[in-house]
Amino acid sequence: MYSEFDREIGEERVEQERQARINAASAALKQQGREQCGCGATISQARRRVHPSATRCLECQVIVEKEAYLK
Ligand SMILES: [Zn+2]
Repeated sequence: MYSEFDREIGEERVEQERQARINAASAALKQQGREQCGCGATISQARRRVHPSATRCLECQVIVEKEAYLK
């Protein structure tokens, strides 16, 4: 059986996790995307709408993801 104490600890943990998720979400929002990729290409409006924090053009993103996959 759970005691009152255990239940309070559990509720506190749930609250902490909820707060951590909110912090992560607002940090992601604050992380501004860029209009231009490091390669000089302009990141399309459509891409930035889907990925507001994108800092690479689609071509560079594909390369980065392929490299990460191959590692
Ligand atoms: Zn690029």
